[in-house]
Amino acid sequence: MKYLFLILSTSLVFAQKTMDPKLTEVWEPTPELVTPGDNQQPPSDAVVLFDGKNLSKWINAYTGKPADWTINSDGSLTVKPDGGIQTKDEFGSVQFHIEWRTPKEIKGEGQGRGNSGITFQRRFEIQILDSYKNPTYPNGQAASLYKQYIPLVNASRPPGVWQEYDIVFIEPEYDQDGKQIKAGTFTVFHNGVLVLNNVEILGTTEFRGNPKVGRDEISSYMPGKSLKKNIYIQDHGNPVSFRNIWLRRL
Ligand code: MG
Repeated sequence: MKYLFLILSTSLVFAQKTMDPKLTEVWEPTPELVTPGDNQQPPSDAVVLFDGKNLSKWINAYTGKPADWTINSDGSLTVKPDGGIQTKDEFGSVQFHIEWRTPKEIKGEGQGRGNSGITFQRRFEIQILDSYKNPTYPNGQAASLYKQYIPLVNASRPPGVWQEYDIVFIEPEYDQDGKQIKAGTFTVFHNGVLVLNNVEILGTTEFRGNPKVGRDEISSYMPGKSLKKNIYIQDHGNPVSFRNIWLRRL
């Protein structure tokens, strides 16, 4: 038996060595050509959501009226106390990029300091917070999936300095009855540092209580009642600024 195995494995190795390497080359499909962006510019296939000029891709999440957050002379955008804005369009799985800055002048503490957030499909919030020497519950600090996952490290820059998120969001899958059959996931880079590594989304982001799972569930603090797949930026009462917002559909 032992010898038979030896003969078989030797001949397998021989077969492998003589196999035509072309047999394992895959030529189709060829990846689409995408021109990467230089100097903070989006790649050529990106959907640009804010480029410093106007808010035509955004509406107020509560009133449905045109978004009117302040556009500054440097091409950045600053929160106005109006509840929050959301994209006009809806999005499934995406690669999402945003740059953000909390106020240089420190006001408040914990969750009250530089708080905003990006909520995907009105139910899953990646937290924005001034988490530079600002203790709070870690599953609610910057780059957490709010109240679900603590970031692997704290890659925060000081208040008043631009920071960035690169987020891969894969939406959950459901059966015909709306029952979840596959959890969604998040991978997040904060200032280029991996902070959430393919974590499985537990359900809707909730301030109180447990996440809710199911196709039609939205976060209890979101406006409206039905699920829509808009991307929402939170007004949490702090003048956080943003720039260079774009995504790629996956
Ligand atoms: Mg928030």
